[in-house]
Amino acid sequence: MEKYDLAIIGGGPGGYEAALAAAGYGLKTVLIEQAALGGTCLNRGCIPTKTLLHAANLLREVERAADFGLTAGNVQLDMTRLQAYKESVVGRLRAGMEQRLRQHQITLQPGRAKIESAGHMIVQGTETIAIEAKAILIATGSQPVVPPIPGHNLPGVVTSDALLSLTEVPRRLVIIGGGVIGAEFASMYAALGSQVTIIEALERILLNLDKEMAQSAKLLLKKQGVAIHTAARVTEILSEEDGLRCCYTENEQPETAAADVLLLAVGRHPWTESLFADGIGIAMERGHIVTDEYYRTSVPGIYAIGDVNGGIQLAHAAAAQGRNAAAVIAGQKTALETTLVPSCIYLEPELAAVGLTLDQARAQGKKVVSHKYSMGANGKTVLSGGERGYLRVVADAASHQLLGAQLMCSRASDIVSEFTAAIVAGQTLEQMGSIIWPHPTFSEAVGEVVRGEN
Ligand code: NAD
Repeated sequence: MEKYDLAIIGGGPGGYEAALAAAGYGLKTVLIEQAALGGTCLNRGCIPTKTLLHAANLLREVERAADFGLTAGNVQLDMTRLQAYKESVVGRLRAGMEQRLRQHQITLQPGRAKIESAGHMIVQGTETIAIEAKAILIATGSQPVVPPIPGHNLPGVVTSDALLSLTEVPRRLVIIGGGVIGAEFASMYAALGSQVTIIEALERILLNLDKEMAQSAKLLLKKQGVAIHTAARVTEILSEEDGLRCCYTENEQPETAAADVLLLAVGRHPWTESLFADGIGIAMERGHIVTDEYYRTSVPGIYAIGDVNGGIQLAHAAAAQGRNAAAVIAGQKTALETTLVPSCIYLEPELAAVGLTLDQARAQGKKVVSHKYSMGANGKTVLSGGERGYLRVVADAASHQLLGAQLMCSRASDIVSEFTAAIVAGQTLEQMGSIIWPHPTFSEAVGEVVRGEN
């Protein structure tokens, strides 16, 4: 029987960061992973998606080369080579991750863990071993939801896992679900040459964004050639001679959309399948493991972080929770502020948000002041031929303390951290605007928006 201070189940961003932090606290740690190290983020999520999106955006840019006085010849897409590039990126990052874990003396245990009781688990891999640990941290993440729509198991109906590995660009791609995954894949495949249709059940796409941003994203996707149907209910998927047919109702009218590939992007559910032996009785709610603010489950000695605990499903949220959970388990103070989670959508221009939106602040009864700056006046955006975008800030009306920011611009996913830092530091718009940004940059728009100039 192997004995540890901490056994972590799941080698995604949550489990990986928790393991590194635990090792830093001197805990003897084992990290158990049933598949490839890196979890969804590295193998089936953030990294492969953004690699393909990078190529797709590059293609869009090269196609407009003539605007910049360049002749780029006949640009061809070789999907097999792009897939090989994506695999090399994932492989490089995974190797670095593995090396770092080993350098910190973390034991890597391949196999599938089943928790027998607090402190005990069985791991089934090429061999079956028993592990004893003072604490167990569950970081098993989530899996795509497959909705029970008739025809969901037909060939050609896929989740994001399979869509990331296509070696041929589908002529017609229908996406069920206009959330983050739906929007990013729509933008990617539209650039790669597919005719893309999004079918969203709600009144608008990207419900997690504020209305202004969601509307801007919708216009951007439409400009990129994506057809968007909202308030549309999918009734069934049929297999026909020339491919798939997605049947749905829109405004009570029956409609159909033809597809070669159909993506199901209707959310992800926590991964707890066969994780517990009978009789453990861990508290669960709507499929996720219930935890308190210290990541403790209802069973003493068992903790859970990331997508599996029902919180916000983002890699960086899981990583921060992992670091904090390691501190809790080691009896140390948590160091990371996890209530303020920036979110990003990797269209071009990118979308990013942190803190309160104008609507949220007003709904909370706050008196606020808000400034908007159009990126149409930003030199770097204009010289690089960027799409229209904007920055918006929301601040307390009396103190001008920053409450939130929404960005739609190139590098928004990097720039948003300026606002996160300012909110955490309790800065006012005036304090934020008191520094010098280099010119010309995308980020100098931060100075413009906090000063309320446009
Ligand atoms: P989501 O919850 O963001 O969106 C799912 C969408 O599908 C919703 O708009 C929902 O109304 C719609 N829907 C549900 N059932 C439907 C049906 N039968 N017909 C039509 N529409 C239907 O989920 P997602 O896009 O699958 O993403 C999963 C998670 O992964 C999210 O939490 C997301 O934040 C995260 N993620 C984040 C990033 C990023 O940060 N850039 C990228 C990818 C995924």
